[in-house]
Amino acid sequence: MTIGPGATIGIIGGGQLGRMLSVAAAQLGYKCHIFDPHEHPPAADVAAYFTRAAYDDVETLKAFGAGVDVATYEFENVPTEPLEVLGGKLKPGTRSLAIAQDRAKEKEFIEQCGARVAPWRAVSTLDAVTDAVTELGCPIVLKTRRYGYDGKGQAWIRSTGEVEAAWRAIAEEPAVAEAGVDFLAEFSVIVARWADGRSSFWDTPENEHGEGILRRSTVPCGDLVALQTAEAREAALSIAEQLNHVGVLTVEFFASESGPLVNEIAPRVHNSGHWTIEGAVTSQFEQHIRAICGLPPGSTALAGSGAVMDNLIGDEVNRWPELVADPDAHIHIYGKGEARPGRKMGHVTRVRL
Ligand code: AMP
Repeated sequence: MTIGPGATIGIIGGGQLGRMLSVAAAQLGYKCHIFDPHEHPPAADVAAYFTRAAYDDVETLKAFGAGVDVATYEFENVPTEPLEVLGGKLKPGTRSLAIAQDRAKEKEFIEQCGARVAPWRAVSTLDAVTDAVTELGCPIVLKTRRYGYDGKGQAWIRSTGEVEAAWRAIAEEPAVAEAGVDFLAEFSVIVARWADGRSSFWDTPENEHGEGILRRSTVPCGDLVALQTAEAREAALSIAEQLNHVGVLTVEFFASESGPLVNEIAPRVHNSGHWTIEGAVTSQFEQHIRAICGLPPGSTALAGSGAVMDNLIGDEVNRWPELVADPDAHIHIYGKGEARPGRKMGHVTRVRL
């Protein structure tokens, strides 16, 4: 079914991803309706409608669902059950969300899809963490099963003496204990999938992180990542197909000596795809809107010979006067209030012609 321009697209979550989705949707002639519990979410500034309500407010979600032609989400830490009231209007569906928001379910699922992850154990007691450290060896990273993002809810165990402190650092929450990967590089595969099974990939960004937060994405990737891209794309497509995913899906990988290992799945547009706004013919945001509305795919070819995207984290956004004076820098500021440390406040993309 095609949902044409003029229709209303509901977006659960009003962060920067919802903001950039709304801009892309508006360009195609759609109106967006943001659903978010905060007072001034960044997406509400650029969307036609905004409902402020809790993510589990079923009655308000029902009314929201009645007023939109299709709905999507830009944020995975939302309870899935209340979203069921949106029925078939929700694209991607709640299955993609349910898998991606629980790290243990996610890893099991990735393995079922035939892709590889670092050795791991599900842990919910201190004894289980100790056993995992004995079995997997150090270093280990403990990650809470739910509600982790940008390195939050994570603690490293570099020697057996650190087990207790790490368990306390993640507040003794159910977690996965994951072997530390001595990776050669990090990269992501961003795929868009249509209900009829069509799919498209962009060039593979090579990603650099600092303190668990994405700092920079670069396309084209280096030779090392390029060698692992075909296998990683096959894994990402298999994951998208098994989820029956409609829209953009991002799979983050470690390039290891033994090939690509999946780190995690995001059932949505992703920070490592922001370069596509100026660096590709069709951005990840426009392609997501095209996929959920049943429009044909746009070209994902590079617009130039490459692109580099740098995040503006915390007070780095205060560099805007210098960045805006650089005629080659495409600066995006998300309109968030306080520039707290570690908060993604904007990004800047430079396209190589
Ligand atoms: P995550 O929140 O799981 O995406 O982790 C954020 C970042 O922490 C990753 O992009 C890596 O840079 C690092 N990291 C997470 N898990 C591991 C691991 N098992 N081995 C090595 N580095 C990791």
